[in-house]
Amino acid sequence: MNRLGYKMSKMAQMDEDHIGAAFAHQRAGMVARRHTFGLRERRVALDDLATAIKQNEAALVAAMAADFGKPKAEVILSEFIPAMQEIRHASRHLRRWMRPRRAAPTLVTFGTSARVRAEARGVCLIIAPWNYPFLLAIGPLVSALAAGNSAIIKPSEMTPATSALIARLVKETFSPDLVTVIEGGVDASQALLALPFDHIFFTGSPAVGKIVMAAAAKTLASVTLELGGKSPTIIGPDADLKSAAKWIAFGKFSNAGQTCIAPDHVFVHRSVKDDFLAALSERIARSYGDGKNSAHLAHIVSYKHAERLVGLLDDAVSKGAQVILGGDAQGRSMAPTLIEAITPEMQIDHEEIFGPILPVVIYDDIADVIRQINARPKPLALYIFDKHRGRTDDVIAATSSGGVGVNLTSAQFVHHRIPFGGVNGSGMGAAHGYFGFRAFSHQRPVLTNHFSVLSLIFPPYTGRAKRLISLFRRVLG
Ligand code: NAD
Repeated sequence: MNRLGYKMSKMAQMDEDHIGAAFAHQRAGMVARRHTFGLRERRVALDDLATAIKQNEAALVAAMAADFGKPKAEVILSEFIPAMQEIRHASRHLRRWMRPRRAAPTLVTFGTSARVRAEARGVCLIIAPWNYPFLLAIGPLVSALAAGNSAIIKPSEMTPATSALIARLVKETFSPDLVTVIEGGVDASQALLALPFDHIFFTGSPAVGKIVMAAAAKTLASVTLELGGKSPTIIGPDADLKSAAKWIAFGKFSNAGQTCIAPDHVFVHRSVKDDFLAALSERIARSYGDGKNSAHLAHIVSYKHAERLVGLLDDAVSKGAQVILGGDAQGRSMAPTLIEAITPEMQIDHEEIFGPILPVVIYDDIADVIRQINARPKPLALYIFDKHRGRTDDVIAATSSGGVGVNLTSAQFVHHRIPFGGVNGSGMGAAHGYFGFRAFSHQRPVLTNHFSVLSLIFPPYTGRAKRLISLFRRVLG
């Protein structure tokens, strides 16, 4: 048993000792680094990371092709470019982010000066999922380094080639007391979670997010949880249907639907249903043909996940759902699939789909859609396609979600000037750009006394102190 009480079934004691030693090494390194890891050193670390990624571009493409047949274009678009962008943006703005912020004195603190320093949290743990296995390990690392931390990365065991590549790249680039990688599955993850990290940045499912938060409670580590859920998409009566079809096909079927912010299901206003389905079917055919053996469509990450998706579809069809398009699955390939007539008895109505199946739900009254959205855990993303600004704003005002996309999908992930993250069921805290830097920083106020009058009210509460307190009472109370 480890400190969390988990049975260390598969993992040998030796591995646990190795994890403990890696952590102790970083902890010792951090003591010295607090003083010496300034703007210049952090920029060097980020530059080194950028160089290593560029040198490994081909290896990255090969690793993800081996892991889940991810098309080269998608590796470049959704792993390589966003990682490089995150580095470039952090490097460019780091000086400003790091600058202590001055705060003007209030009436009570007159005679003092205040500044807020963004300080490194310390030794951080980054646990990554398999669906964007490189970006979701490296993106948080950029923020961690920018904020002056050291980090241990635990990539996903489901994408072993990418995990091995991350481990090699990090080993060749950084001293292990700054960044190191521990490969492995649930056992390695739980052994890490038992250690007193200063911050844990977890990306993965809501179920494991709860395990991470419970572990963090034992050491009082702060957490950022980037989780998932069922992100709804709404097609309003005034939507540009051709454009909506393009964005939805891209958001849903790139990475074969294995995207945390992919539209999970789509609510379509009855008046535009036929035209929307025609536009979406045409778009899917144009992008992926009949979906069988398309070179532009990633595979499902494992046979187990492919079976889960086929199971969801079979369950829905057996309970009355109708397949409008696709439905074919072979091995780890699944064609883009549209289904309708979903009911609450079906498993697909409850589980995050995380694959290329898109349920289409017809509605007449937007109030019903809002009710359905609010009856579920707050989603990571909410997408609305409608040219009617008032209706769009009403939906936003009446619901809650991690983020919102209007007349687009997925692009909110690549905007580095806005926070990316969930709320409650879909996560907590935020990532990207300055918000990622904030997640890995402690905002430490430093208040300095110059000529504060507060000492005049210290006890004994007689004479002048008493008069001053009643003056304060009159002015401030
Ligand atoms: P997962 O939760 O199964 O695994 C994520 C990580 O946690 C992996 O490294 C895994 O080894 C580790 N892990 C798994 N079980 C564990 C346990 N019992 N104890 C400790 N660690 C454990 O998630 P996944 O299947 O890799 O990824 C898919 C999920 O991630 C989806 O729900 C998706 O929506 C979500 N996701 C969210 C974001 C985001 O940015 N919000 C991004 C990508 C994926």
